[in-house]
Amino acid sequence: MPERRLPTIVVLATGGTIAGAQAEAATHAYRAGALDVGQLLAAAPALAQLAHIQAEQVTSVGSQNMTHAVWADLARRVEALSRNPSVDGIVVTHGTDTLEETAYFLSLVIRHDKPLVLVGAMRPATAPGADGPANLFHAVALAGRAEAAGRGPLVVMNEDVHYAREVQKVACAGVNAFASPNRGRAAVMRGPAVHFFSRNDSVHSTASEFSLEMLDKAGWPRVEVIHAGVDLGSDLIDFLATRVQGIVLAGVGDGNATDVAMQALARAMANGVAVVRSSRTGSGHVGRNVEVDDDAAGFIAAGELSPQKARILLMLGLSKTQNSTQLQDFFDRY
Ligand code: ASP
Repeated sequence: MPERRLPTIVVLATGGTIAGAQAEAATHAYRAGALDVGQLLAAAPALAQLAHIQAEQVTSVGSQNMTHAVWADLARRVEALSRNPSVDGIVVTHGTDTLEETAYFLSLVIRHDKPLVLVGAMRPATAPGADGPANLFHAVALAGRAEAAGRGPLVVMNEDVHYAREVQKVACAGVNAFASPNRGRAAVMRGPAVHFFSRNDSVHSTASEFSLEMLDKAGWPRVEVIHAGVDLGSDLIDFLATRVQGIVLAGVGDGNATDVAMQALARAMANGVAVVRSSRTGSGHVGRNVEVDDDAAGFIAAGELSPQKARILLMLGLSKTQNSTQLQDFFDRY
C-alpha cells in the first residue's frame, strides 16, 4: 500500500480549560491555561497518526481574559502560516468562554482559505473523562481535511463542527455546551472523518473587507453592550454614550427595551454613537422597523448576530464608517 502523506498542522495554543489543571482530581476547582501546548499534545498520542504537528504557545489565559492585542497577534500568525506552503492547516486551542468571539473576529479579518479550526474543552485536562484530548484529535483531523478549506474558521467541540458566525456557547457547564442555534451545525466528526451538512453562506475570510490595519488606524473603536430587562433606566446608557463609539443593546425579545432606555439610545445616536439592536434571547432574527422605528432613530438591527458578535462587527464596521446605512449593510451581509 502506498504510504499516505500526513498533513502538517500547526497548533497555536492560547490557554483555556483545555489546558486547565486541578490541584486535585477530586475537586471541581481548577486553573485555566496552566498546562503548555507540549503537555496538551502529550495527552493525545493518537495525533501522531493524523498529522505532523508543530506547536506554538501564543499566550496562556483563561479566555475571559482574551484581549484585542492577543487577537491581533493570533490573526497575524494565522495569516503568516496560511502563506507557508508547507503548512496544511491550523488549529487554535482556546478557552470556551469567548471562543465564539475569537472565531468570528478571525473570520472577518484574515484572508486565507486554509483549514483553520478552533477548539476548547469543558473539563480541565486533569479531570476524569477530560474532553480536551478527543476534541483536539477531532480538530487536528479536521484541519488536515481538504473539505475544511474555504469555509472560514471552524469550531469543533464534542464531535460537532460549527461555523464561526453561527457558533454559540449555550451552557456554562457540560461537554455539550456549544450549538449553532440559528442555522444548525456545519458538520459532525466521526473519528477522523468529517461529514458536512451545509456550506458557509456568510461572508468570511477570503471575501471579508475588514482588516487589522484598518482597526489599528481607527484605534479599535470601543463598543460596549447594555443588557435590557424589566424597568431598565436611562442613566447607564447616557453615561456609556460619553465613553464609547458604539453601543449594542442586548434587548428583550426583538431587540427592545423600556421607553426611557430606547429614548436614551436615540439620544446617543443623535450624538454620534452608533447603536445596534440585538436580542438577549439567544436566537432569532432582529429585523428593522418591527416594534421599533429604526428609520426615525437611526438604529441598526443586528439580524441573527448575538450581542457579543454584534459588538465585534460594530467595532470592525466603525473602523470603516460611522454612516448608519453602511453599518446596517454590514449587519445585513456578515
Ligand atoms: N474560563 C475558561 C476559559 O474560557 C472556560 C473554558 O475554557 O471552558 O478559558
